[in-house]
This record gives sequence, C-alpha cells and structure tokens, in this order.
Amino acid sequence: MKAFEHYAPDSVEELLELLKSKPNAKLIAGGTDLLLQMKEGTAQPETVVSLKNVEELGGFSVSKNGYRLGTGMTLRRITRSNELTQNFPGLIYAAGVVASEQIRSLATLGGNICNASPSADMVPPLIALDAVVQLVSSQSQRELPLSEFFKGPGESVLKSGEILHSIFLPQPSGSMIYSKHAPRKYMDLAVVGVAVRLAKKHGKINEARVALGAVGPVPFRAEKTEALLAGQTLTTELMREAGEMAAGECVPIDDIRGSAWYRKRMVKVHVRRNLEALR
Ligand SMILES: Cc1cc2nc3c(=O)[nH]c(=O)nc-3n(C[C@H](O)[C@H](O)[C@H](O)COP(=O)(O)OP(=O)(O)OC[C@H]3O[C@@H](n4cnc5c(N)ncnc54)[C@H](O)[C@@H]3O)c2cc1C
Repeated sequence: MKAFEHYAPDSVEELLELLKSKPNAKLIAGGTDLLLQMKEGTAQPETVVSLKNVEELGGFSVSKNGYRLGTGMTLRRITRSNELTQNFPGLIYAAGVVASEQIRSLATLGGNICNASPSADMVPPLIALDAVVQLVSSQSQRELPLSEFFKGPGESVLKSGEILHSIFLPQPSGSMIYSKHAPRKYMDLAVVGVAVRLAKKHGKINEARVALGAVGPVPFRAEKTEALLAGQTLTTELMREAGEMAAGECVPIDDIRGSAWYRKRMVKVHVRRNLEALR
C-alpha cells in the first residue's frame, strides 16, 4: 500500500473545509471497502480523511416527516436500534445479512451506498422505502432520490468536495421485504437482491416499489413491474406476471457468482416470493 496523509476532523465544517483544500482526498468511514481497494492498488489516495470523529454523521433522528439517518451509522448500530427495527424491519433485515458481525461493527451505511457496488445490500431496501440522500459540500447542499445517486459500478453523482451527509426516509408506508440470493448463506455478496414494498388500500395495492440489486450496472427501480402492480388486487397470477416482468427489466452480467440467465431467473422467483410474503 502506498503511503498517504491521514486526517480525522471533528466536525462537518472542518471536514468540508479540508476537502475543499484537498480536492483529491478520499473519505474513509469503516474502511471495509476502501482499505481492500488500497491494498489491491485499485485506489491509491495521497490523502485519506476519516469520518470516524464526526459525531453529527453518526446517529439518527425522527420528526413528523420521517427519519434522518446519519451516513456514519454502522450497520451493527442500525441492527441494534429498536426504533428502526419497529418501523423498518425489512431494512434491518438487510443490514443483518451484510457480511458478519465484525464487519458490520465497522461498515457504515454511507460507505455501503457510496462504494456504489451494484450488489450493496442496503441500497434496494432504501430505494424501495423512497430514501432521499443529502449531499453537502462547503459551497452547496442538494437532495435527490437515492435511485438517482448511481451512475455505474463504483460511480455516483458525488462531486469532488461533496459528502453524503444524511439519508431521509419518509414515515413508513405499507410493508417492505428484502431478500438476498447468494451461493453461501453467510459472508457472501448478493447474486440478486430484491426489495418489494406494497401499501394497500381497500384490498388493492395503492403504492408498489420493486427495487433490484446486482442485476444491472446500478441498483434500480423496476418501474414497469411497479406499474403492473399499482391499483391491482394481489392474485397468484399477478404475482407470477410481476416476477416475469421484473426479470425482463434486468440487465445482468455473467460473472463468477452467477450467469445472467440465472440472475434473471432468481429475480423472477424472489419478486414472486416477496409478493407472496407481503400478501
Ligand atoms: C468480508 C467482507 C464481506 C462483505 N460482505 C458484504 C455483503 O454481504 N453485502 C454488502 O452490501 N457489502 C458487503 N461488504 C462490503 C462492505 O462491508 C460494505 O459496502 C460497507 O458498508 C462499506 O462501508 P464502510 O464504512 O466500510 O466504507 P469505506 O470502505 O470506508 O468507504 C467505501 C467508499 O465510500 C466512500 N464514502 C464512505 N462514506 C462516505 C460519505 N459519507 N460520503 C461520501 N463518500 C463516502 C469512501 O470514500 C469509499 O469510496 C463486505 C466487505 C467485506 C470486507
């Protein structure tokens, strides 16, 4: 690993000023992605800025509009929150299937998102929950739906000097389920990640979200499938059709974890199963 400068500011203001003066600096949160990349030589930052001491990024708060999650929250902390478990059980499940307890003690929500891996487990459930991300630099602040954050594998809309500060979740509406398909039960990346959220009114679906991971260059909403479900009663036939439609919306690749054919097949199965469970 190449030698690098290391800074650990205590506040967001100090952090943003530092990033302004060192535009090529790399942020480090838990380091469970970045340190591997630095060891492999795929990332060779000259300056590394740690988020660890920035308390403001570490917790979450609740208001009448919803929840603000700080990006520095570790996945372990997320799984240990009674408040989040009560309101977002599908999201807590997703956090609990990332890696192992040791990794989850370091790995942060922000790191899982900003690493921009198509298979990141926290992303499909957050997209299905209509998460909005807040990006902040020393000069600006902007908010956008998480579904618009990703540009490609390892690439996001984050600009130099900008950090992912918070994730906003509206008050929960309906129920959301995340399921992960991976060859190994533990310590494995998703071959397919499927989050489905349904809100119903008078027995019909009035809001449907289907968010898919590891089956395209970025995690995405299967919008045709959502449109198919909206306004309908959840029948066995509709669940089957939704599974097929979602598989048709994927653009997976063949790789060591699974072929494109297999991934599509697993999307079909998981979308149908998640809908069944929600019914
Ligand atoms: C053995 C092992 C198993 C794993 N298994 C899984 C798994 O099952 N599922 C899964 O989804 N992931 C898995 N991972 C990946 C990893 O643990 C997660 O992606 C983790 O959440 C990354 O968080 P971090 O805090 O460690 O990020 P870091 O490594 O610190 O950072 C990752 C990237 O995000 C950037 N970044 C971090 N925070 C911010 C911010 N606030 N604003 C802007 N940029 C930021 C960094 O600059 C870096 O580019 C695994 C990793 C290992 C080593």
